[in-house]
Amino acid sequence: MFETLSDRLDKVFTGLRGKGRLTDADIDATAREIRIALLEADVALPVVRAFIAAVKERARGAAVSQALNPAQQVIKIVNEELIEILGGETRRLRYAKQSPTVIMLAGLQGSGKTTLAGKLGRWLRAQGHTPLLVAADLQRPNAVNQLSIVAGQAGVDVFAPEPGNGVGDPIRVAADSIEHARRTMHDVVVVDTAGRLGIDAELMAQAAGIRDAVQPDETLFVVDAMIGQDAVTTAEAFRDGVGFSGVVLTKLDGDARGGAALSVRYVTGQPIMFASTGEKLTDFDVFHPERMASRILG
Ligand code: GDP
Repeated sequence: MFETLSDRLDKVFTGLRGKGRLTDADIDATAREIRIALLEADVALPVVRAFIAAVKERARGAAVSQALNPAQQVIKIVNEELIEILGGETRRLRYAKQSPTVIMLAGLQGSGKTTLAGKLGRWLRAQGHTPLLVAADLQRPNAVNQLSIVAGQAGVDVFAPEPGNGVGDPIRVAADSIEHARRTMHDVVVVDTAGRLGIDAELMAQAAGIRDAVQPDETLFVVDAMIGQDAVTTAEAFRDGVGFSGVVLTKLDGDARGGAALSVRYVTGQPIMFASTGEKLTDFDVFHPERMASRILG
């Protein structure tokens, strides 16, 4: 991901090398090229506008520096603005004062929620927690089974509806799981929920019902970074329908242009907290804005 954007930005910076000082015309031309690079990378228009305005203003105001030539100065500004648009600081998971901490996963089908539940389970275990993964996706026939498999791989426990007992009622399963976690001393509950291929009022209402039943400490919106501009509309629909406190970007290993990754924080106002970069449970980490910016700038 981001290869095209990285290449384009590199060309912009190369064009500035050798210049002794930047005129307003140079800054305008550079801003135009960066704008095209971002639009080609599928970054949402309001994000592009805000980004370009900030870069232009700072480039104009930048004092002549002894230490940095104009090209280096522009790279520094673009780097800092990329970090800003990606959220600035790394946002850590917030744990509840009283166990269990409840983390709810929401997102479209195929966004990588069930895989993420396994990844989070493994990661939480490595941090010394005792997570419980909850199968509240009862829409997809194989989802419960898939969650049990990833839980097994992660070495963590799973809570799934007993056959014939509460099957079909994900809200009840989710509510029961919290009681179960208290009894069995699991300190973090990760609730996997159902998603459709498109935004769907019924499933949105179901997710809101699960939210009300489990009162999550964190609701993570899981979004496939490959879906480009659609990520923005999907994020807005989940923000309005369920609400969320953080974003998880998945499939960052894909060859999409990366616009979703650059837009979602700005558009939703919620931080990107984790990133998934493959199908294996180990292809996962806390999201660090500055590392992502360095990756984009190559
Ligand atoms: P869910 O419907 O939201 O629960 O999505 P799944 O967890 O079933 O994931 C859908 C597909 O995406 C599966 O084939 C996963 O192996 C795959 N997947 C999940 N996360 C990633 C990722 O970060 N990178 C890649 N390449 N594939 C992923």
